[in-house]
Amino acid sequence: MSVTTSNATTSATAFARAQAVIPGGVNSPVRAYGNVGGTPRFLASARGPYVTDVDGNEYVDLVGSWGPALLGHAHPEVVDAVRDAAGRGLSFGAPTVTETDLVDEIRSRVPPAEKVRLVSTGTEATMTALRLARAFTGRDLIVKFAGCYHGHVDALLASAGSGVATLGLPDSAGVSAAVTGETIVVPYNDVEAVEAVFTEHGARIAAVITEAAPANMGVVPPLPGFNATLRRLTLTHGALLIQDEVLTGFRVGYSGWWGLEGLREGWSADLHTFGKVIGGGLPVAAVGGRRDVMNLLAPTGPVYQAGTLSGNPVATAAGLATLRLADASVYARVDAVSAQLRGELTAALSAEGVPHAVQWAGNLFSTFFGADAAAHGARDYAAVLATESWRYAPFFTSLLESGVYAPPSPFEAWFVSSAHDDDAVGRVVAALPAAVRAAAQ
Ligand code: PLP
Repeated sequence: MSVTTSNATTSATAFARAQAVIPGGVNSPVRAYGNVGGTPRFLASARGPYVTDVDGNEYVDLVGSWGPALLGHAHPEVVDAVRDAAGRGLSFGAPTVTETDLVDEIRSRVPPAEKVRLVSTGTEATMTALRLARAFTGRDLIVKFAGCYHGHVDALLASAGSGVATLGLPDSAGVSAAVTGETIVVPYNDVEAVEAVFTEHGARIAAVITEAAPANMGVVPPLPGFNATLRRLTLTHGALLIQDEVLTGFRVGYSGWWGLEGLREGWSADLHTFGKVIGGGLPVAAVGGRRDVMNLLAPTGPVYQAGTLSGNPVATAAGLATLRLADASVYARVDAVSAQLRGELTAALSAEGVPHAVQWAGNLFSTFFGADAAAHGARDYAAVLATESWRYAPFFTSLLESGVYAPPSPFEAWFVSSAHDDDAVGRVVAALPAAVRAAAQ
């Protein structure tokens, strides 16, 4: 095992080869290190809290495949379940009992998901949720929040910045203004802006979609009562509330963010989307919710949705094994590791005099740099964009060279797992002083 990772020769060769034939050399943009510079590490294997690259460097992993690796990588029981399933056939295009078992597991943890449809990606889940909401309400407009990510659904690639809510403009080339014109983008955590949108457009709004706790602009937790206000306003105006728990679901707790907030406060969304953890590292996502809304899906109802690999037997076996292992002790460990790392990060940054805010939602966390963030926190996307995010690249690079694989973007959450033992945590802590010095410059 090496503790420094200056050797990225094989990764560099692999990246050059990939760039010739894959746009940007990657199959999902953040992997290209555009935000942090340097050579993206091509990974060869992963086990527990560690990933190993093609040059043989081992890193403590703080990405966790962007969420699925709640138990760490290659948990033996999950791998066994995958092997068993694979041995019985890779894909049938016909129903299997495992799909219902997985849905039952999801429903037992989030009972408001009365019925659940399995899909392969979070993008499909949110896309289907929008279609359902429009069909159920007979309305067209969708309200989303600036800085919230719901996958690459055309209508949700609008993020019109801060201030008063505006009708969204396309964020991505290739998305027509007609599509995003039906999406209203509102600053996150801004109750008055949401109220204003409902006052003006209430009778035309099909749904409000929100990350249950945003973690795709860095972690920006909902202010107390914000989600409950969304619930109240949508009910008042006959719109549906879609809580996107693709990232938070079964990661921040046994029942996801709903378990931390909605369950305690006595409310739930009409539709919930899940992904990541429910596939345990293989492609499974889901949309679930009210029976009357979900029954609109074909073949019971008129809303078309389908997938060749939906409910794939190997993927659902991985998800089911993961969820069955994810008991209270798993969440206690993940929470404890998160709290410890947050404390260490705060202490290291303070010791070096780097103004910062370490923000968290459940066990998800991220660091914002700058005096404003330190003074007020970053409560919406505009505040996030005003942080000193340029400090992140040297911070990240130093961590990487010390054997810590942090997310290659300042706007992503950090993920830990129940496999992060004291040794793994200790390696991160040992890497912090140099990283913080790099961030201070
Ligand atoms: N919704 C949220 C909250 C997400 O974090 C993501 C992905 O990061 C998605 C939806 C899209 O999921 P996928 O990448 O599986 O399409």
